[in-house]
Amino acid sequence: MNAQINVNAAKETPTPVTASRVLVLNSGSSSVKYQLLDMAHPSPTSRPSPATAIKGATRHGDNSGTRLASGIVERIGEEGGVADHAAALKQVADELASQGLGLDSPQLAVVGHRVVHGGTRFTGPTLITDEVVAEIEKLVPLAPLHNPANVTGIKVARDLRPDLPQVAVFDTAFHATMPEAAARYAIDRATADRHGVRRYGFHGTSHAYVSRATAALLGKDPSEVNVIVLHLGNGASACAIEAGRCVDTSMGLTPLEGLVMGTRSGDIDPAVIFHLARVGGMPVEEIDTLLNKRSGLLGLCGDNDFREIGRRMAEGDAEAQLAFDIYIHRLRKYVGAYAAVLGRVDAIAFTAGVGENSPAVREAALRGLEPLGIEIDAVRNALRAGNARLVSADGSRVAVAVVPTNEELEIARGAYSLVRA
Ligand code: ADP
Repeated sequence: MNAQINVNAAKETPTPVTASRVLVLNSGSSSVKYQLLDMAHPSPTSRPSPATAIKGATRHGDNSGTRLASGIVERIGEEGGVADHAAALKQVADELASQGLGLDSPQLAVVGHRVVHGGTRFTGPTLITDEVVAEIEKLVPLAPLHNPANVTGIKVARDLRPDLPQVAVFDTAFHATMPEAAARYAIDRATADRHGVRRYGFHGTSHAYVSRATAALLGKDPSEVNVIVLHLGNGASACAIEAGRCVDTSMGLTPLEGLVMGTRSGDIDPAVIFHLARVGGMPVEEIDTLLNKRSGLLGLCGDNDFREIGRRMAEGDAEAQLAFDIYIHRLRKYVGAYAAVLGRVDAIAFTAGVGENSPAVREAALRGLEPLGIEIDAVRNALRAGNARLVSADGSRVAVAVVPTNEELEIARGAYSLVRA
């Protein structure tokens, strides 16, 4: 800023600009997703329209978070796409500028970055410094597919606006409250500690958002309720949340553990790996690919989209039916296990692509659990809606909710909380 502008600015009545916008960046290996949100509390005269107000964020507490813009830049480094992450972020900046929302705006308060793995080092939203970037890079061996892209996104964004605070929000952070009894694998302590082998959990941003939104739906504070969140997307995880704090989750050292997923096996006897190596002669990389990319629903029936699996089941396809049954069996086991971990369950919340959109999965997962106080209402469950809602029967001791997740809003809240005056 040059002297001339400063002089002019000084002459006018200074109208302080409240920097209340947050740019959320989710940098993957070949894509960058972005969302620009305004975190200012809407005044009574300038409420966001119901269409733009963020779902599920209206009752109890924070009702800020208006989405101003969002988009995705794909095929980074691929044919027909942009060359690299720097070019991708430049495109994000251009798209925002074309809508009058440029990154040079004084209203932009902070950039919030999704980072997949925070190890044991990062347990909450963290202001990014050179040291923090170096620490995230050190965690690459734990998340070789994700953390490098996250770091690249951070570096490019810092180059673009070096003066702007940038905050990292970690997928693992919400699970940092897991007691050691849930987080530690029953293997030799020294070996585990030397290699960082423990249960970290993922989808934490979603579990945090959904558990809070579920409490809000019940008209309660998060500290008053115990919730089981079932995040069922292509990746899937369950989380037991006691009084707002995670006490167990189904993903572990990596996102491979736990539920049956779109292409991941979830829980498996680790000896299957030795067996495939010794008897099947498969190299470890091939087994890694098998369990992460060619297993789960896809491995069982050739499809990993529940819409297609549902169609096939309706036609009497036995393979699709068995894949569905295996998926549901595992899901029910985790519901039961987490009911035991929590002792008292106030709500079970379904979220993400499958959880939000498949009444069949929700119904099958909880069928016959009335003895546990869980009773789903068939009519409510079958209704399609985009908002957070209850689908349990009126007399159900445990509330059953469908809550659209909103990881971007959760990241924005985390980032904004660190810079808000
Ligand atoms: P990701 O983990 O990639 O973010 P999503 O949360 O978007 O995944 O979930 C994607 C999955 O959601 C799809 O693979 C599909 O199985 C499921 N899904 C999406 N829409 C529907 C629908 N209308 N009915 C049933 N399943 C659906």
